[in-house]
Amino acid sequence: MLKQTEMCFCKSCAASTHHILVLVRKPNPFKNVKNRKRKEFIAGLIKGLMVGPFIAAMDDFSRHLICEKCGTTTIDD
Ligand SMILES: [Zn+2]
Repeated sequence: MLKQTEMCFCKSCAASTHHILVLVRKPNPFKNVKNRKRKEFIAGLIKGLMVGPFIAAMDDFSRHLICEKCGTTTIDD
């Protein structure tokens, strides 16, 4: 499975858990679209897979870390 994960602290789980790393471009183009979260997630995931670490250094992307246990998303700007 092609996905990037990172260990980081989840407030909801109160523990260090695996998080899926998704890079989301800002401002958010899906702001007014229904099912925003899912589209955002997929778009971010595709983007993350295509460009990977290359984009991680760019300012116009937010890093969304999604806890694999509880699904809580932490946005790391
Ligand atoms: Zn969690």
